[in-house]
Amino acid sequence: LSKENGKNGYSFFNVELSQEKIRKMTIENALKKAVQKNQFILYYQPKVVLGTRKIIGMEALLRWQHPELGWISPVEFIPVAEETGQIVAIGEWVLEEACRQNKQWQDAGYPPLSVSVNVSVLQFKHGKFLDTVEQVLKKTGLDTRYLELEITESIMQNIKESKRILISLQQMGIKISIDDFGTGYSSLNVLQKLPIDTLKIDKSFVDELDIDAMNPMVKAIIDLGLNLDMILVAEGIESENQMKVLIEHGCTIGQGYLFSKPVTPEDFEELMKIPELMADKIEQGTAR
Ligand code: C2E
Ligand code: MG
Ligand code: MG
Ligand code: MG
Repeated sequence: LSKENGKNGYSFFNVELSQEKIRKMTIENALKKAVQKNQFILYYQPKVVLGTRKIIGMEALLRWQHPELGWISPVEFIPVAEETGQIVAIGEWVLEEACRQNKQWQDAGYPPLSVSVNVSVLQFKHGKFLDTVEQVLKKTGLDTRYLELEITESIMQNIKESKRILISLQQMGIKISIDDFGTGYSSLNVLQKLPIDTLKIDKSFVDELDIDAMNPMVKAIIDLGLNLDMILVAEGIESENQMKVLIEHGCTIGQGYLFSKPVTPEDFEELMKIPELMADKIEQGTAR
């Protein structure tokens, strides 16, 4: 680049920034047609009982394959979809697909397992959210007790409104889980007043257990959840040691590569065909 360009405000730095911008704009544009073009697919990661490793549920995780850009991580496209508001339509697709698939598996005779669906705050606060959830359940025929919604602590920013929505969901028989717990700004006083079933301990805390098995934050989160009568699910467990320490601290459920990565629906079906991997009714009941 010449000096002249420099004068006009161009520099290598700006050029690189604009590459980033171009990718973002490309993604933003491509997202508009992604649902209609069937570019989305849901992967499923098992939720297991720590120790026995028996499967008691699954989390639906969105995957996007673009014909030119290839696989794009939700970590990259979800924030774009949130910025543009496209997350509302995408989230609706995710919810319906997860419920449809779960109901189909149950109808096919697979053991009934609950499905957790990630819901972005924008989607949650969208005026039509409750109606959408109700319609999707009606349309797919999934029993509400098999649906769990994962929301983040950011809902605490508008407590009154959030509480109203959460209570309605609870009345419908849907479970609520706080995802990435410990990374946001939960008001502990408020947490106790909301109908929350599960706290998901963020992976960053689970990682800490390798450095210090007695990590006080992990212990504090688990104790908090247990005292509030919530179920604790640890995210991102990768080692036997992490699992062992979590069990010692009182956490009973987890997800992570130690057990399984998120897999295609076909592969999840294969997992459900292995009787040894499935929890019996009692175990499911206690762990929900
Ligand atoms: P999340 O809901 O906290 O999901 C956990 C993420 O950790 C997933 O990444 C999962 O693949 C990954 N993970 C699970 N176990 C391990 C492990 O042992 N080690 C490591 N390194 N990673 C593990 P993924 O699928 O890339 O999703 C990232 C985030 O994108 C999710 O975090 C969630 O916030 C968001 N997301 C994914 N699908 C959806 C969706 O349908 N709707 C919305 N609103 N957000 C979604
Ligand atoms: Mg999640
Ligand atoms: Mg999470
Ligand atoms: Mg996380």
